[in-house]
This record gives sequence, C-alpha cells and structure tokens, in this order.
Amino acid sequence: MNKDKKIIIVGSGIGGLTAALRLVKKGYKVEIIEKYFQAGGRANQIKKDGFIFDMGPSFFSMSYVFKDFAKDCGINLPFSYEELDPLFNINFDNKKVFNLYKDIKKLSEQFENIEPNFEKKFINYLKKSEDIFNETFNTVIQKNYQNNLKILSLILKKNLLII
Ligand SMILES: Cc1cc2nc3c(=O)[nH]c(=O)nc-3n(C[C@H](O)[C@H](O)[C@H](O)COP(=O)(O)OP(=O)(O)OC[C@H]3O[C@@H](n4cnc5c(N)ncnc54)[C@H](O)[C@@H]3O)c2cc1C
Repeated sequence: MNKDKKIIIVGSGIGGLTAALRLVKKGYKVEIIEKYFQAGGRANQIKKDGFIFDMGPSFFSMSYVFKDFAKDCGINLPFSYEELDPLFNINFDNKKVFNLYKDIKKLSEQFENIEPNFEKKFINYLKKSEDIFNETFNTVIQKNYQNNLKILSLILKKNLLII
C-alpha cells in the first residue's frame, strides 16, 4: 500500500484505535472519524448524578491479544494483569449467588442440584466451544478479506454456519 495515502478509519472504539496505532507504527498517515462526542466506543463510561457506569468491558477476556498489540506498537503497558478467580459472580433476587470459578469441579458443584451431570455436560460444551474458537480465531478472525464473497466462501468451507 502507498504510504503517502491517508487511511481513514471509521470508529474510535478499541478496534479502530488499535488498528490506527498499528498502521501509524508501520508509517502510514491515519485519520479516525468518530460520530460520538468522544473516543472509546463500547469501552466508554456514562457519568451521571455522581455515579459512573461502564458501557461495556470490565475485564480483559483475551489479554494475549492486547499483549501482542502492545508489542507490535512498542508500547509499555502502564498496568499489569491480575487473574480473577472467580471471574465474577451472579446474584439473584432470591439471594442465590453463583461464582464463575476457574476450577471446573468447584464451578460445577454449584449447579449439580439444578442440572444433573452438570460437570460432564459442561466439559463437553467447553470442548465444543474450544474447537469452534480455534477454528474461527486462527482461520477466520485473524485474516483480511477483500470482499464479502471471500469471507462467505471461507465460512462455508469451514462449515462455520452451524455456529
Ligand atoms: C455490556 C458489554 C460488556 C462487555 N464486556 C467485555 C469484557 O469484559 N471484556 C472484553 O474483552 N470485552 C467485553 N465486551 C466487548 C467489547 O466491549 C467490544 O468487543 C469492543 O469494545 C468492541 O470494540 P470495537 O472498536 O470493535 O467497536 P465499538 O467499541 O462498538 O466502536 C465502534 C465505534 O465506531 C463508531 N461509529 C460507528 N458507526 C460510525 C459511523 N458511521 N461514523 C463514525 N463513527 C462510527 C461508534 O460510535 C463507536 O465509537 C463487552 C461489550 C459489552 C456491550
């Protein structure tokens, strides 16, 4: 691509901002266009009546992607990652609390009375999800497409429409 040409990125969410930084690092001129009054996209906040609400993400679910990005751009991240376990908990009106533990046994114990054979079913579900994730992440997500036909043909070839 001609590096004298300016690249226009529509949207200043995490996707737009990281793409812009990667391109700038490669020597391209980049302009970002944003329709909202500030950058951030879904990673924005709403501040009202002394309260702050996250509009979207609260934790790094794929921190390795962010680490790759920082490395590519030569950025030292101003923070370090801390693994959360439980990742979060869900509180119901009836005071029942479910913790999303990393340990499958510990996680499953909470649901055995609700869903018989939960642990086995959950492991099967995770295995299926892992296969779909690997198939999409490595061969679909981390690829560029010149047109819609190319992406559709890859999805059909990989039989990903069953997702
Ligand atoms: C409730 C919620 C919780 C989430 N929790 C997590 C989490 O914990 N961990 C995690 O990793 N991810 C989480 N996610 C997902 C994560 O927020 C998104 O994947 C990520 O922020 C998407 O970034 P993006 O740049 O692709 O899109 P967006 O953030 O949607 O950015 C798109 C930008 O484009 C702008 N735009 C759109 N159309 C135009 C136009 N025509 N002209 C100009 N500007 C335009 C929009 O205003 C916006 O700023 C969560 C998402 C939600 C909604």
